[in-house]
Amino acid sequence: MVTILGAGVAGASLAWALARRGRRDVVVFDPSLEPSGSTSKALGGFRTQHGSELNINLALASRKFFVERAEHIHFQPNGYLYLAETPEAAIELRRRADFQLACGLPIEHPDPRAIVPWLDDAGIRGANFCALDGQYIPLEILGAYVEEARELGVDFRLGREAGPRDLTADIVVVACGVWSPEVGDKLEVTLAVEAVERGVFMTGPYDWLGDRVPITLEAGSGFHFRERDRRLWVMGPGDQHDWNRIREWLAMRAPRAEVLEPDGYISGNYEMTFDHHPLVGETARGGVWSSCGFSGHGVMQSPAVADNLAAMINGDSPPLDIRPLSPQRTEPLIDLTQL
Ligand SMILES: Cc1cc2nc3c(=O)[nH]c(=O)nc-3n(C[C@H](O)[C@H](O)[C@H](O)COP(=O)(O)OP(=O)(O)OC[C@H]3O[C@@H](n4cnc5c(N)ncnc54)[C@H](O)[C@@H]3O)c2cc1C
Repeated sequence: MVTILGAGVAGASLAWALARRGRRDVVVFDPSLEPSGSTSKALGGFRTQHGSELNINLALASRKFFVERAEHIHFQPNGYLYLAETPEAAIELRRRADFQLACGLPIEHPDPRAIVPWLDDAGIRGANFCALDGQYIPLEILGAYVEEARELGVDFRLGREAGPRDLTADIVVVACGVWSPEVGDKLEVTLAVEAVERGVFMTGPYDWLGDRVPITLEAGSGFHFRERDRRLWVMGPGDQHDWNRIREWLAMRAPRAEVLEPDGYISGNYEMTFDHHPLVGETARGGVWSSCGFSGHGVMQSPAVADNLAAMINGDSPPLDIRPLSPQRTEPLIDLTQL
């Protein structure tokens, strides 16, 4: 039997992947009846534009899942637009583009206003764009995993914690997002995941946004937005509860919004690890595995991470080598786009 702890996107995708690989003995526990962890707060970005071959390969391998369920999960391949608003950011975006092109990604350097006509591009010194990237509704992704996994026989026990007998299963997987350290403690494994609060302000609705707004991110500052339901969902650095920093940034980059008050706000946790990469694989305690600490990238990476982890658990040959993500690693993995 496989006991999965956590029915967020990490646990549900793993259950789905194990069932697709033929396992009929997968049980998922979650004390929460409804999704309430990071997955329920995610913005919904998907990008191939990463800074390491591993992350690019995971993104490319994940993309099929999004494309095949595009209508169901509202996957819109509108691309992902990086803006360089400082000389340093311009150099960094060039460096990333060289690497990403060498990895086979179709990176372009468009005039940002050709893609987002209402954007104020004052001071913008460069842009990277990849048309493979896009956006989706995170809870619909989670719903798709649960629905498909249930059809294949996975037993989701929501509103219930695993009991002592469930924890003696051959395989126990900790997929508890920011709760993973305390759950790991009970299983005598160390999972160093730290909660970092991230807030999202919504503004709008606006009828002038257009239909194909890409997620747009200032590489230097980290301010970024997506379009959803004709609104802008905006995140940025600084005090995550402070609306004024978002209002000021919007006044500069999207002056047409003329926004004084937000239309909504949610906040959730990024589940950070020491190198901003997840802890995926078998822990130091044999039979106890982890899939947690996705550091703000867990939804977009879930299809490929889950499939490869399922292959490892099953003893199959994994399509990608994700052993570098081992929870037992001590050396940091490097990808500057993960910051
Ligand atoms: C504001 C914001 C924006 C984001 N934007 C993006 C984005 O654009 N793209 C992207 O890919 N990612 C994004 N993320 C990150 C993404 O949401 C996470 O990486 C991902 O959802 C993590 O999934 P998870 O299943 O590991 O954790 P969670 O979704 O937190 O799930 C963990 C589950 O474990 C359960 N649990 C707790 N204790 C126990 C226990 N004892 N036993 C069993 N279960 C337990 C919890 O109830 C919870 O359901 C964003 C996150 C935030 C907060």
